[in-house]
Amino acid sequence: MDGLANELEALNRASSVRRLLDSASIPDRPGYILRGNRALLDLCSNDYLGLARHSAIAEAMRDSLLTEGAGAGASRYVTGNFPSYGLLEKALAEWQNREAALVFANGYMANVGVIGALASRGDVVFSDRFNHASIVDGIAISRTEHARYRHNDMEHLRFLLNKYRDKRRKLIVTDAVFSMDGDRARLTELVALKMEYGAMLMVDEAHSGGIYGQRGEGLGHELGLENDVDIHMGTFSKSFGVYGAYVCGSNTLIRWLVNKARPLMYSTALPPSVVAGIAKSLELVRTEHWRRERLSAASRVFRSSLIEAGFNVGSDDTPIVPLLVGDNDRALRFSIALEEEGIAAVAIRPPTVPAGTARIRFTLSASHTVNELKEAAARIRGIGLRLGVSDSCNGS
Ligand SMILES: *Cc1c(COP(=O)(O)O)cnc(C)c1O
Repeated sequence: MDGLANELEALNRASSVRRLLDSASIPDRPGYILRGNRALLDLCSNDYLGLARHSAIAEAMRDSLLTEGAGAGASRYVTGNFPSYGLLEKALAEWQNREAALVFANGYMANVGVIGALASRGDVVFSDRFNHASIVDGIAISRTEHARYRHNDMEHLRFLLNKYRDKRRKLIVTDAVFSMDGDRARLTELVALKMEYGAMLMVDEAHSGGIYGQRGEGLGHELGLENDVDIHMGTFSKSFGVYGAYVCGSNTLIRWLVNKARPLMYSTALPPSVVAGIAKSLELVRTEHWRRERLSAASRVFRSSLIEAGFNVGSDDTPIVPLLVGDNDRALRFSIALEEEGIAAVAIRPPTVPAGTARIRFTLSASHTVNELKEAAARIRGIGLRLGVSDSCNGS
């Protein structure tokens, strides 16, 4: 264990060590968290639509707990397949206008399960360099060829598609909205390329589900491409405010996954109360369009305030707003200063992002008001001036 302690000390010296900080929710104060005994404006949760503390979801979960019990007791292949699973999957397929859907325990397991089921030795997975770590791990576990293309670089992807054109199965995977940069994938071009090269296309809608589309279906729907995406994956842990994930697509895809996805086979089914919470949340996501409108207004106001203050925060319209800082130490000091000013947001450092592009990652929520965000932007501007962070801190 001495070797581990020494390596941890080296990480600490490079401002790269990670710690787990306590954060508690505050009843009746959405958009804030409690750290120590202070309320902080929460600009780092993924609760985009402000549903994580919705009373109707909590009540649905409580009712299920009292009638169905705490745990499923087994995997879905044994006795854990409560009727509520099938009903939820039917509702998901209907919502997405696809043939079938399948629920997974979480997004990480969905990505590992799907990629592991679709690709193995002799195949190739084309993956954007900025894709989520669960996609990277899914590719590693599947032992398939990993063809990483430069972020959103369609020419590089085309080059790799040509290079591996003789592989058996080809799968292109992308985040719809990239989690650390808050920009969108070029889905229209990806669809054209997958058709041209006879590849499958998988889109991870973790940060776009609930946010885009008339009923929150995701970015694919927003662009009218839902039927061109072979594998649509989404999570219930972010916009839905609960926990879990799903995949939808053709009947063949779902039947294949039921037979091949190891995280589904070798793990206990989600607790029925979580399924009940997801089902209630799905109703709210579909019907309460005002939450998407509030989120979109919050994102616009916050982003433009930071741009006016002279920061480099990218130019997209998503609720993920990265403020490029550059070096690790300054990013850490920035996040500490934010906390002192009553704002919770984390410093994101390598290896999560490329070296030299450490950043503060802000995420917005429908719970935030325009005034709160303008005020926060003013405080962020003050910190930037003190620490010498400005638009010239260009990263990627
Ligand atoms: C959060 C996230 C996941 C993992 O989802 P969990 O349900 O939290 O395990 C997968 N992909 C992307 C792009 C994510 O942002």
